[in-house]
Amino acid sequence: MRALPCALLALLSTAAGAASITTIPDEAVTQAIALRDAALKDKQAYEILESLTTEIGPRLAGSENDQKARDWAVARFKALGFDKVWSEPVTYPKWVRRSESAALVSPFAQKLAVTALGYSPGTPKGGITAPLVMFNSLDALKAARPEDVKGKIVFVSARMQAHKDGHDYGIGSPIRSRGPAIAAELGAAAFVLRSAGTDSHRLPHTGVTSWKPDGKRIPAAAVSNPDADLIEQALRRGQPVQLKLQLDCGMDGEYTGANVIADITGSEKPDEVVILGGHLDSWDLGTGAIDDGAGVAIGMSVGAMIGRLPQAPKRTIRVVAFANEEAGLYGGKAYAAAHKHEVAQHILGSESDFGSDRIWRLQASVKPEALPAIDRMMQVLAPLGVERGMGRGNGGPDLSPIHAEGMAALSLTNDGTRYFDYHHTADDTLDKVDPEQLAQNVAVYVTWAYMAAQADGDFGSAPGAFKQAEE
Ligand SMILES: [Zn+2]
Repeated sequence: MRALPCALLALLSTAAGAASITTIPDEAVTQAIALRDAALKDKQAYEILESLTTEIGPRLAGSENDQKARDWAVARFKALGFDKVWSEPVTYPKWVRRSESAALVSPFAQKLAVTALGYSPGTPKGGITAPLVMFNSLDALKAARPEDVKGKIVFVSARMQAHKDGHDYGIGSPIRSRGPAIAAELGAAAFVLRSAGTDSHRLPHTGVTSWKPDGKRIPAAAVSNPDADLIEQALRRGQPVQLKLQLDCGMDGEYTGANVIADITGSEKPDEVVILGGHLDSWDLGTGAIDDGAGVAIGMSVGAMIGRLPQAPKRTIRVVAFANEEAGLYGGKAYAAAHKHEVAQHILGSESDFGSDRIWRLQASVKPEALPAIDRMMQVLAPLGVERGMGRGNGGPDLSPIHAEGMAALSLTNDGTRYFDYHHTADDTLDKVDPEQLAQNVAVYVTWAYMAAQADGDFGSAPGAFKQAEE
């Protein structure tokens, strides 16, 4: 979008007084351009990500590596020049994966590539062997009669296609998160889904499922796309298909981890913060490079770049390495609960959690008087290939809870065409990160974050500010 039409600007000026319009001083724009161009040549984010994925590796929430990753984050933040680094506790139920396997028993014996879903209970020792009943959508499963499902393994198969904005995750994700509980209520023995992913490799995609507090729980897992194809083809021949599922996994008490938080303290308005970050936890199959080591590396690198400027930013730049996003936004919710009383001081925020391929779109939830400042940001971001989207900005997963409390927020959309090839699989590794595109991400984040820190005026953060837009 271009600048606000003059008529609207005039209206805003007369209605609320010209002083209420948020602007970016010219010298801040010049500095942002210099930061943007420097970021494109900077290799620090990649180096941080290489360190996290090599020295720590997978970071399943509550695992031994969870603690190691937090220690790593504290040390990194300090080494990068953040002047305040601290942790805030985040408590959640801990889930562990020990082993998993599945095989077709009939019409012929064939091992399947399978992975348990987070929060799945294990099978009895020796596994579950049962006939399969297939549904091609969550709605079809909801409409099933209990007598068609009872004692069977429910299989839900819906293929996701790759899209730039990743919107087919809206098909796969609800099947994974809600399907098992629905199948359990219908009396199924176990639940298997076609992986919520777009690849054609025998690498299943894990991810969390959710249960009603006192509802029935059954073993739940995902098979790879080629295995799902095979099962479908076998079923199409009208022969009974039997599957054996063996999962050793389950709940293991409660765990208290932490959000690791770091500030580059502002020089003029230290209590006002511009916030960014990523989640430090990852699934355990790969090394969590795209999900979400990249987000952590981008945030750390942006803070470090701004921190190295001769003049500290006016407002504080805060970077959060969030705890346990994967099992249900535990870190983001804990941050919002701990900081909602200071939501008005959270000037603007956005988390990176959609890989690190090129950012192509910015969407903003800000007050109307701040739109000229967003337009100014867009002018500096346009050469990076970022266009303005007219949807809302929710700040990304872990900042959505504090956005819901009233923080102004941006959503920066990466090119998600290949994201769901790797997401939550053993293939989420460093080689999938393109250093050049990662640098473009850092350039985008450093631009808006610096301009927000220097803005004259705010973006509309206030308790309950964006409630209407949510509804
Ligand atoms: Zn993520």
